[in-house]
Amino acid sequence: MISPLTNAFLINPMPLQLTLNLCSHGCIYCFSILNDPKRKADLKKILSILKHHKNRNDITSLFLKDKYPVLISNNVDPFSKNNHVLTNQILKLLVAMDIPVQLNTRGGYGWQEASEKIKPSIWYVSVPYSDDEVRKIFEPNAPSLDERFEMVKELVKKHKVMIGINPFDAKFSDDHKAIIDKYSEIGVKHFWINRFHLNYKQQSNLTDSQKEIFGPEFLKQAASKDINPETVKLYIALRDYAKEKDCEIIGTPSGHYESWFDDFYSIYPKTMPTQNDFFKWCEENKSEGDTISFDEFFDFFAPLIPDWETDISKFIYNKSNLDDKTFMKKTRLKNILHVYWDSKAGLNLAKNYPVFSWFKVQTEKKLDWAKDGNGDRLLIYHPNNYNTKEFLILEETKQS
Ligand code: SF4
Repeated sequence: MISPLTNAFLINPMPLQLTLNLCSHGCIYCFSILNDPKRKADLKKILSILKHHKNRNDITSLFLKDKYPVLISNNVDPFSKNNHVLTNQILKLLVAMDIPVQLNTRGGYGWQEASEKIKPSIWYVSVPYSDDEVRKIFEPNAPSLDERFEMVKELVKKHKVMIGINPFDAKFSDDHKAIIDKYSEIGVKHFWINRFHLNYKQQSNLTDSQKEIFGPEFLKQAASKDINPETVKLYIALRDYAKEKDCEIIGTPSGHYESWFDDFYSIYPKTMPTQNDFFKWCEENKSEGDTISFDEFFDFFAPLIPDWETDISKFIYNKSNLDDKTFMKKTRLKNILHVYWDSKAGLNLAKNYPVFSWFKVQTEKKLDWAKDGNGDRLLIYHPNNYNTKEFLILEETKQS
């Protein structure tokens, strides 16, 4: 199916995703397989939307009409044994329609044909291991590390490639630096890192022998919101090492602009704006201790967002947290900006990024949130003083 990339609004520049058959690479930690072990590609629906999108007004069709790019894919490998033929058939149609793509893969079959067929694109290639024997345990049917390296060597001649050291943990590699060494030598600059995460629902679909491979402690950590301090140490050391090699570790934003997004903008004529663009605006327009209002947030994003009125529910981040279900129905895309500014379903800038905080003001009479004239909470920007708490308390005199 081609559908909105769930939870992508203001997070990912790619608004759409193509989903195919459950991936035969069979990685034992694949959240997509664990979420829905019986999924099959719905070719009829895919062809129908490609054929009829010009006459339709659902959000997927609107993005296709405007030739926004399609991610292939966050939940399947397009070049697995059971998907590569379909991938190349669909790519042929997308190329004819002048709709660009981003490809996420561990390699496999038919990637050469795809690479030749499409315009220069972003390819995200997962390489979480430095030892192929370890790879065989967790990704039994996926291409070997040598095959992935040979593929990337070819791809970089035409495309931009980032390497996903994902999942990132000492369990999967005892030498992450070796991955950076190897790929930086052939011109890769960006390495995406995400820690290993599997919630308990997903874990319930693991077989007993898979559970045994991970071990109970590791699975407990995988379901936890807290990051293991050892993994944090490993991350910091690798980030510093990458800098020495003139590379960048990405995927764990702090609230500062990450320049790897420039690759997207240099390649794709149309992308959706993201919070990362807003981080850049803050860096250029705000200083330590300045406040940021919803009006500024809205004025930044509104001109960059298509002016559509349609069902936008798939775009609402963490929508189960959203009390007001009006947003699940037909509404203007720009209406979500207010939800994203200050609700649990939104970006949660103050909670997630240490350069932003909400703030309360202590007066003689009360302690209350700082708000603008419309009653929206104000953020305070402190790029030089990281604060991991969601809000600060200021004395009244300090607010002015
Ligand atoms: S390659 Fe990706 S989609 Fe395929 S099984 Fe592995 S993790 Fe899942």
